Amino acid sequence: MHASEAADKWERLVTFARRKLSEHSFHSLTATSTPADFNGEVLTLVVPDHFTARWNEEKFGTELASFAPQALGHPIALKFEVQQSQPQRVQMDLFVEQSSDGARHTKGHAIRLNARYTFENFVVGRSNELAAAAASAIAEAPGKVYNPLFVYGPTGLGKTHLMHAIGHAIFARQAERRIRYLPAEDFTNAYIDAIQHRSMQQFRRQFRELDVLLVDDVHFLRGKDATQEEFFHTFNTLYEAGRQIVVTSDRAPADIPGIEARLVSRFQWGTVVNIDYPDAEHRTAILKKKLQSDQLAQAIPAQVLELLSQNSQGSIRDLEGAVVTLLAFASLRKQPITVPLAQEALRIRGIQLHAADDNSRSVPARVTISQVQATVAALWNTTPDGLRSKSRLRVLTLPRQAAMLLCRDLIGATLNEIGSSFGGRDHSTVIHSLQRAELEASRSRDFELKLTAARQMLSSEVTQTKPIRRGD
Ligand code: ADP
Ligand code: MG
Repeated sequence: MHASEAADKWERLVTFARRKLSEHSFHSLTATSTPADFNGEVLTLVVPDHFTARWNEEKFGTELASFAPQALGHPIALKFEVQQSQPQRVQMDLFVEQSSDGARHTKGHAIRLNARYTFENFVVGRSNELAAAAASAIAEAPGKVYNPLFVYGPTGLGKTHLMHAIGHAIFARQAERRIRYLPAEDFTNAYIDAIQHRSMQQFRRQFRELDVLLVDDVHFLRGKDATQEEFFHTFNTLYEAGRQIVVTSDRAPADIPGIEARLVSRFQWGTVVNIDYPDAEHRTAILKKKLQSDQLAQAIPAQVLELLSQNSQGSIRDLEGAVVTLLAFASLRKQPITVPLAQEALRIRGIQLHAADDNSRSVPARVTISQVQATVAALWNTTPDGLRSKSRLRVLTLPRQAAMLLCRDLIGATLNEIGSSFGGRDHSTVIHSLQRAELEASRSRDFELKLTAARQMLSSEVTQTKPIRRGD
């Protein structure tokens, strides 16, 4: 029983180490390492990725081994190995966001990359092909092309995934490159920490000597002037030295409120690419890819896959959420995964079904954007032309926002489709309008009633598909 012996040795070793290591180190070590084998001399620990393996080895390997004689009564060596495929993995793990435990270190250190976020696992489609192409070009030649790269788009569409993929790919080619991935929030915290601990020099060295800096969700820096200033200088130092910088955000550089103009202009120096919502076909491809790697493909019939990709509300994270709900459902009820079960699971997630016709494989008839516009115009006492106009009168902005929301929810229209059907509005304006509509629906009874009425009118227009709605 090598594994249980390994667990026992590890337990005793870390109990001893706890007194010697800082809280932070202890946590990062134990959160990342799992005892796997002990052969009498070498204790093997598995870690999620190469970065962690290298990091733990360098930082803890010798020290931990030196504790062994006291903690265990005999010397041992330690080996950190990257976890290979895990056949016994709980099915759902694949779809559940890995815990950010340990991934949010503020004091700098190892870049923690999610092992699943690789190029190999990233399915390219129309909505993300530019971003994917730029990312892989960067992975081939960091700092040479597309510098900086700015990737933006709504949440749950793969920005973080792509960033990690860049990190993995560069590391696989050139392990000596100094790569650092971190959410902008962590940059802020590290900066504040450095001020408090008067360790600014160390902080700066840490960031300014990198080869590749990947900063996720920079919109988080809004209004944080001092951090932005520091980031600006970090950016310049790296840029001038030809180091690669990749930044993501939920919207285009110029549209992020509370970001200094000079930082915005830096972001625009390089390449700015957008990731949009995937279409149903793309969603199916993503689902298939994810299921493939976990023998789930057989468990989920093709019709269920289709139902899921046609009914998840847009983001890939939502799509994954729908699968998790379905799997949980099937396992709780001990039932096979069928179309009716999937329909029930989707309803529980509050998703309206518009492809409930399980006998026919044909794409069901859908409401069109102009039908939505006509219905909304009628309910709000205005005209479809008014909705498509540039006018910002409140009597028009409210119904316009409502109509946009319905186009997204009922039709699954992309931001681009919505933008161009409503007077050529840009991506970020559409996002903003959708958010306004959701907000309005939550605080105005009248708005909400009209929305519900519109949904009902539109669904009865399409007699072939009877949307099944959650009884609320
Ligand atoms: P964002 O950072 O844009 O909010 P994430 O990168 O966290 O989104 O992606 C959300 C989830 O969707 C992750 O589990 C990710 O692996 C998955 N995902 C996103 N895009 C793709 C894609 N093109 N192919 C496969 N999985 C994807
Ligand atoms: Mg993200």
